[in-house]
This record gives sequence, structure tokens and C-alpha cells, in this order.
Amino acid sequence: MTMNSTGRPTTPTLVSSNEATTTVSGSRGLQQREDLIFEIGTPDTTGVDLPAPKGRVNRLGGVARKQPTGLPGLSEPEAMRHYVRLSQKNYAIDLGLFPLGSCTMKHNPRLNEKAARMAGFADIHPMQPQATIQGALELIDELATWLKTLTGLPAVAMSPKAGAHGELCGMLAIRQALIARGEGDTRKRVLVPASAHGTNPATAVQCGFKVDEIKADARGRVDMEDFRAKLEDPSDIAGIMLTNPNTCGLFETDIKDIADAIHEAGGYFYCDGANFNAIVGRVRPGDLGVDAMHINLHKTFSTPHGGGGPGSGPTVLSERLAPFAPLPFIVSGEDGFELVEDAVGEGAQSFGRMCAFHGQMGMFVRALTYMLSHGTDGLKQVAEDAVLNANYVQARLKGVMTPAFDGYCMHEALFSDKFAAEGIETLDIAKALIDEGYHPMTVYFPLVVHGAMLIEPTETESKAELDRFCDALEAVAKRAAAGDQTMKGAPYLAPMKRLDETQAARKPVLKWTAPQPETVAAE
Ligand SMILES: *Cc1c(COP(=O)(O)O)cnc(C)c1O
Repeated sequence: MTMNSTGRPTTPTLVSSNEATTTVSGSRGLQQREDLIFEIGTPDTTGVDLPAPKGRVNRLGGVARKQPTGLPGLSEPEAMRHYVRLSQKNYAIDLGLFPLGSCTMKHNPRLNEKAARMAGFADIHPMQPQATIQGALELIDELATWLKTLTGLPAVAMSPKAGAHGELCGMLAIRQALIARGEGDTRKRVLVPASAHGTNPATAVQCGFKVDEIKADARGRVDMEDFRAKLEDPSDIAGIMLTNPNTCGLFETDIKDIADAIHEAGGYFYCDGANFNAIVGRVRPGDLGVDAMHINLHKTFSTPHGGGGPGSGPTVLSERLAPFAPLPFIVSGEDGFELVEDAVGEGAQSFGRMCAFHGQMGMFVRALTYMLSHGTDGLKQVAEDAVLNANYVQARLKGVMTPAFDGYCMHEALFSDKFAAEGIETLDIAKALIDEGYHPMTVYFPLVVHGAMLIEPTETESKAELDRFCDALEAVAKRAAAGDQTMKGAPYLAPMKRLDETQAARKPVLKWTAPQPETVAAE
């Protein structure tokens, strides 16, 4: 343990000689330890040197602050460096290929960003008079037209703010439709395949439904025998939530039969459209019998994810569900575009509101920009290239890793941990990949595959980038197959080494306490 000039302990960063420090990708750390801002700042440092105003009259009365707040002070370059250093500790799509399966981490074109920053879109307020935001409403309406056309469904709710929020929208519409049919209390069972994303069962339960899990078959698809058995007594069936292509990266080849059977049973077909990137421009979910489907604009249509920006999950609806769509929605009338905000007239059967306003305007601008810059032929190519890239990755790695299922995949390649030697786990492979300078792939999901590793390269990667990534993963996979025990300590080159993730989840330390100089902080 050493101390820095401010007397705070610093963690030694040297790696011992037996640790793996050679990487295939040439990854090397060039990063300094960064303390928390209130550890490096002092309350009496300020980036501003204006003199205190003379003759100031305090108008705050009895609520004036009696003590300084103790906010950390830093000079401008110190503040700048603090945040830039923190940002360097983050992996980002602008730094390299982001292989997270199911997440569709594609490049965010800068043209989208330019359009989203135009004052007419960026500087308006949702409570402005509608006559002053006609352009914005027109843009939402045009994006809605694209989404309806691409999915072959007649209506779309634009306000959901993420994929999971879109699921909630679709399932609330289904619940409302069942209530309107007088079957709201009897039809409570929702079928969900074992491979489903966790948000699917969570959404169903949130809407008051009971989840009934369908088995996966040996081909990684819905087990049709199990599915049909669940429909033997259809009286309580509300519907099914199915992902297509599914989370194993495979097209559900029986989807038409599934749709027909669920409709015959009196239920609705919710499709999780998070994987729309694999089929956009090629398949219209409406043609497959889908009643409701969310579209993650932040996946298929290149808007940033999470910390890079809010999500957006517009939800397309079939004719049967359209009357129950949430408020508000846009209609075009004689005086231009208007918002239907109340549950009267056209909105009379709506299930209500999902959020205060109309949805994520900035994401709408980005998504429409992406669509217009690709055109319909370009969007079709998006799906084709996404599937081609995933199959390239699968083909390049199948000699050293174990594909979970036979045959071609759709937009993501799924491997099991079978190829790894005894004692080496998926987690070790993921951590070793960090030392190669890559964010790990999705691990341990879907649950139906042992030690699953799900890789989605997206269409925005070139062959050269795919090769660079495959070289790195191939080398890691070979070490795993050889039982290289140094992998158990990876990552060695990351700012933080192996974390105890179980402890972190079970016993999170939510309050900062000053490090004690005598004890070495556990990383
Ligand atoms: C991403 C994803 C979701 C949830 O979408 P969010 O926008 O993260 O809420 C649901 N289902 C699948 C299959 C997904 O990949």
C-alpha cells in the first residue's frame, strides 16, 4: 500500500509476472486510477474567481443556507480530466465492436445526432400549443407510418419509452381487449417460452397474468408438442409472448402455426420485437399473425442505448387491438396534426396513458433519419448484413467453440461452454476477453443453453473488424480449451480486476466510507 500526495491510499497496479499480460489484440492499459470527485476535490477550490458582489441583500429570509454545502471544488482542467478519465474506463460502441447479444449495439450514425440537435426538434416543449409544433408532430406521424409499413400492422403506439415499456403497452392493450370482451377475469394465462427475455414474464405478471412456460425443443425453438398440450383447455388463455427471431438467434419456423393456434384458442399474439434487426425489410410481423409488437428504436434503428440516451419502444398493434392503444396519439385533420389526449371519441376505448407526453422525441428524430438515409432497400440490406455477419462469426469460431445449435443462425451466434476445459467457465472467458480490449458478449443468457455466450456483431461491422474480434476470442477460447488457469484471475489489464459479482449483488455497499490506510481495499 502506498500513499499519494494527499495522503490517500493508492492501490498498487503492478501485475505479477505469472499473470497473463500478453494479448492477441495488442490491448494495453494507458489509464490512471481515478478517485471519486469528492476525494480529489476540496470545498475551497473553485474554478471561478469572481469577487463576492458588494452590497448584496439576502432575499432568502429564514431559509438561507447556514453552512457551506461542501461540494468538491476542482479547477477546470482537473474537472475536465476527471470526467474524461472516467469516460475512458467505459467501453463504448465508438471504441470498438460491442458483441452483446440481444442488445443490437450498432454504430450510431452522426447524421442522426445532427438532425436530433436541430432547434426545431431539440428546443421545443411538449406543452407548447400544437399549432407551433406541427413539424414535430408530422415527424412522429411519418415515423409511425414507416413502422406500420415495415411491420405490416395498422396502428402504432409511439409513447413507450423502452422495449420493456412497449411490452407493458402491448399487454395492457391485450388486457383491455379481454375486458371489453367480458373475459378480463377468466383469461389470465400467458404462454412464454423458456428462452424468453426476463422482461416478458415480468411484464405478464405486472399486468395481472399468470405465466405458463413452454419448453424449448432440441432445435432451440418452441416445443410444439408442449405448446399444443398447453392449449388443450383454452378457456383461460389470454395469449402468448414470443420472440422472433428468438433469443437463441433462431427463426421460429412454426410461427404461423403458433399464431393460428393461439387465435383459435381465443388469445392474442404478443411478439417481442427486440430482434427485429434480423428481419427488418424482409419479414412483416403482421403477415405472421402478430397482434402486438414493440420495436426497440435503440436496437434496430440505431438510436443510442442506456447511458448514451434514453430508449424508445413504439408498439405496433393489429386492428383488433388498435382501439385500446394508449393516449395520446396523433391524428391528421383539417387543421393539420392533432393529438387525441382524452378517452373520448376516437380514444374512448384506450387503456389510458403510459407516460406524461408523446414519447422520446430525440429518438424519433434519430430513428427516422436512419430510415430515410437507408431507404427501403437499405433497411432490407441491414437485416441481410446483420445475419451474414453473425454467420461469419459463427463459422469462424465453430472450430474452437461449440455452437449451441446446428445450422445457420439469424443475427446472433450462440455458443455453449462445452469446449472449455474442466474448471474454466463462461465467466472466465468473458473476463479474459476484457483483457483483449473488448466488452464481453452476453453470457449465461438464454438460460436454455449451458454457459451460454451470445454474440451479436450487427451489420455495422466490417469484415476486418469481425476478424480482429474473432482473432481475440479465438485465442481466448483456445486458452479455455487448454484449461489455462490464469484465466480465473482475468481481467488483469482493466482498471478493476475480478470483482466478486455475487457479493456485489447480494451485499451491495451503497455508502462510501473513507479507505483505511492499514487495510487493502478489496477490488
Ligand atoms: C432488449 C430486449 C428487451 C427489453 O428492451 P429494453 O429496451 O431494454 O427495455 C426485451 N426483449 C428482448 C429479447 C430484448 O433483447
